[in-house]
Amino acid sequence: MPALELRFELGGLHLPRLGLWLDPRRPVTGPERVVVSHAHADHTAPHREVILSAPTARFLRARRGGSRVEHVLAFGETRVFDGPEGAYRLRLLPAGHVLGSALTWIAAGGETLLYTGDFKLRPGRAAERCAPCAADVLVMETTFGRPEFCFPPEDEVMAGVIRFCRETLAEGRTAVLLGYSLGKSQEILARLAGAGLPLVLHEQVYRLTSIYAEFGLTLPAFERLEAGNGRGKVVLCPPAASRATLEQQLGPLRCAVLTGWALDPRCRFQYGADAAFPLSDHADFPDLLRLVERVNPRQVLTLHGFAADFAAALRERGREAWALSESDQLTLALGDPVRIGPVPATA
Ligand SMILES: [Zn+2]
Repeated sequence: MPALELRFELGGLHLPRLGLWLDPRRPVTGPERVVVSHAHADHTAPHREVILSAPTARFLRARRGGSRVEHVLAFGETRVFDGPEGAYRLRLLPAGHVLGSALTWIAAGGETLLYTGDFKLRPGRAAERCAPCAADVLVMETTFGRPEFCFPPEDEVMAGVIRFCRETLAEGRTAVLLGYSLGKSQEILARLAGAGLPLVLHEQVYRLTSIYAEFGLTLPAFERLEAGNGRGKVVLCPPAASRATLEQQLGPLRCAVLTGWALDPRCRFQYGADAAFPLSDHADFPDLLRLVERVNPRQVLTLHGFAADFAAALRERGREAWALSESDQLTLALGDPVRIGPVPATA
């Protein structure tokens, strides 16, 4: 059996012959190790032993607390780990999604695999630049895996955001910008540098932004949101913040959401916002295609979002590509044809 035998389980990838998991959503508390690609909540759980980058370890301590066995790897460093059936090599490379987010490269039994986690090739202002490498098999996220998801240039998007803020402030209202507290908020903040806007951060955003500063990111001046100091300013909040509570605290306001889903005209209604701007920390469709060209794998496996559509788009382009989904009981033996069916009890 190939060493890189791969299964999709617990919402993540399991390499049983290496005793290794990649981003499982449920806790792994037994003897096996877990790669945590980045610190977004849907990629973390209270695992016993983790492999991760230094910023991800720091964010996990801030967001989850608790303790765990940590193997903190520098980007580009190759570490040898012992698995139940022998040693394997593992390397983390920048994924460009949020600070510390990692691609995972694994070599075992003469085969190599690259797992992306969430990634973005377009350079961000608040994340390391994505640096993929060649591999035999590529397992990639495909959140925006349809051709209609092609994001406009960030500078153009942010010019619209800055106009929205200036107009709102000129009307004597507060401008609220909704974006995830880890990654998106700091990207917005970095891209507001030089706009001369008074910036205030919601507590959750403030806490994580302080960690970005620890890792040396230069950001424009900002205040922490406290009673009475946000009115008539630009306030960065997580998307879950309640509009009624914000209005109580910030007075009359206009609210904009910043997300890749803003390409869908229904988006602003779904978020209860007055405007929506397509700023994403994920790859868009052209980025997804570019990644495949750069890694140039023999086989592509797709995960999350429009996984089946993107795999089909790759097959149309002559690539071997298959979607992994939660409902599949799937075992992939690299180098063998893909088998879809019940996982054999002995596998
Ligand atoms: Zn993420």
